[in-house]
Amino acid sequence: MAIQRPRGVNDLLPPFSGKWRAVEALFHEMCAEYGFKEIRTPLFEDTDLFKRGVGENTDIVQKEMYTFEDQGQRSLTLRPEFTASLCRAYIENKMHGLPQPQKLYCLGPLFRYERPQAGRFRQFHQFDIEIIGTISPLADAECIVFCWDFYNRLNLRDLTLRLNSVGCPACRSVYRLALQEYLRPAIAKLCPNCQGRFERAPLRILDCKCEICRAAAIGAPAIVDYLCAECSEHYHMVQEILQACAIPYTADSSLARGLDYYTKTVFEICALGLGAQNAVCGGGRYDGLIEIIGGAPTPAMGVALGMERMLTALAAQNEDIDVEEGIDAFIATDFNDASTVLAAFALASSLRSSGVLTAMDYEVKSLKSQLKTANRLQAAYVVILGRPEVSAGIAQIKNMVSGEQSEIELKQVRRYLLEH
Ligand code: ATP
Ligand code: MG
Repeated sequence: MAIQRPRGVNDLLPPFSGKWRAVEALFHEMCAEYGFKEIRTPLFEDTDLFKRGVGENTDIVQKEMYTFEDQGQRSLTLRPEFTASLCRAYIENKMHGLPQPQKLYCLGPLFRYERPQAGRFRQFHQFDIEIIGTISPLADAECIVFCWDFYNRLNLRDLTLRLNSVGCPACRSVYRLALQEYLRPAIAKLCPNCQGRFERAPLRILDCKCEICRAAAIGAPAIVDYLCAECSEHYHMVQEILQACAIPYTADSSLARGLDYYTKTVFEICALGLGAQNAVCGGGRYDGLIEIIGGAPTPAMGVALGMERMLTALAAQNEDIDVEEGIDAFIATDFNDASTVLAAFALASSLRSSGVLTAMDYEVKSLKSQLKTANRLQAAYVVILGRPEVSAGIAQIKNMVSGEQSEIELKQVRRYLLEH
C-alpha cells in the first residue's frame, strides 16, 4: 500500500504554491516598509523553552506539543509558536545590546497536535512580527495596523477586530479573584475544559464557546474595571491611536487569548466565512516573557497571522490572489535530428541564464504538438529552430498574441526576447 501523509498536514501543490508565495512576497515587502528585519530560528527547541515561555497552563503545552527525545536523550519540541523562539534568540544573541526596539519578523511552519478540522492543522503556517524593547502603545497599535493593512491589501473583507487589556500581574490578580468569586457558584455547570480552567486560567472561561459557559459568564466583572492606572492609561492610548488611524474595533472584555504570557494589550482579528475557526490572527503585549525565559526585563509586543485560515477566508469570499502565469519563450525544434535538438537545448539554456522564462519539450513530438504545449504554458513567443534554421544560423520567432512570425539571426534571439 502506498504511504500517505500524516493526519493534519498538507501538501502544497502548484498552482496554489504560486499564490502562497505571492502572499509571502507581500508579507516580506510590508515588513520592509514597516521596518521589520527577518530572523530565522530552528524548527525545534529545548522543550523547556516552550514550557516556560508559552506557559505550563496553556492548551499548547498541556496537550498540543510534538515533543521527542533525540539520540542524546535531550527533550526537544517542534516549535508550536514563534514568540518564545524569537525571545530566546533575542536573549542568546544579545540583541538587547543593539538599538532598541528590535523589530523582527519570521514566517514558516509550526506544529501542534490538535484535532484536525477545517482551519485547524497539525502543521500550519504563520507570519509573525514582534517589536521588542519598548513599552510604547504605539508599538501595540503598529502591530494591529500592520495586520489590518495586510488583509486590506489582500482584499480580505468583513473583518472584526476585538481588543482588550488583560492588565499586568498586579491588577490581573485582583481581577482573577473577583472573577473566581463570581463564577464559583456555577463551577459544576461549566464545561469540563472550563472546570479545569477555573483555578489555572479563569479569564479564559469568558472566552469559551460553550453555551453554558457563556451563560455563566453573563454579568461577570469586566477586567477594564480592575486595571491599574498604568494599564488603564495604556489601553486608552492604544484605542486612541487606532481611532486616529480609522481602524474600527470592538473593546471586548471577554477576550483572553490562549497564551499565559500576555500583559496589557491583547487582540484578535476574525474573518467572516470561516465557521468556528474564524480567527485569522492574534497577538498581544508580553512584558514579562523575556524575563521568564532568562533575559533582563524587556517589554515587547507581537502578533501571529495564520496563513491557511486567511487563504480559506479569501477563497470563501471569492477573492483570488493574482500571480503571474505564462512563460516568455517556448523553443520548438526537430526531435528527429540530434544536432538540432542540441542547438535548441543550448539556446534554451542561454535564454534561461539571461532571465528569460523558457521551456521546450523533451521527447519526440510533432511541431503541431509542440505548439500545443507552448499554448498550454501561455508562452509569449515561440522560437522555431528546425534543421534548416540551424544550418542557416537563424530562427523563426512567432508572437503568440498577434500571430506574427518573423525570421531573425540565431545570435539575436536572446536580445530580441529580452527587449520584447
Ligand atoms: P485558536 O483559538 O483558533 O486555536 P490560537 O489562539 O491557538 O487559535 P495563535 O496561537 O494565537 O492561535 O495563532 C495565531 C493564528 O494562527 C490563529 O489566529 C490562526 O489563524 C492560526 N492558527 C493557530 N492554530 C492553528 C492550526 N492548528 N491550524 C491552522 N491555523 C492555526
Ligand atoms: Mg489554539
